[in-house]
Amino acid sequence: MLHIYCPHCEEYREEEEFRPKGEAHIARPQNPEETSDEEWGDYLFFRKNPRGAHHEQWYHAAGCRKFFNVTRDTVSYEILETYKVGELPTIDDTSRRAAK
Ligand SMILES: [Zn+2]
Repeated sequence: MLHIYCPHCEEYREEEEFRPKGEAHIARPQNPEETSDEEWGDYLFFRKNPRGAHHEQWYHAAGCRKFFNVTRDTVSYEILETYKVGELPTIDDTSRRAAK
């Protein structure tokens, strides 16, 4: 059983309480009417698919029902950190590679 740390509840909870919600830190275009179809399509449909550290948004569905972010290694599935929405990750692709 995988345990995930919820930064809102401030404790580890069973993975079945959580739902992944896709890539984190996706900025909505500031002026949608002035955005080209290609830029809007990129915003809606195209996501990163990195090998290594990936920032994801997760939802504590059976707990506090709040969203938070996870940095997860897509190779090992290891969760490297969790942090609240609006905070910045301390691990990114560059620092992860530098640490090895
Ligand atoms: Zn929670």
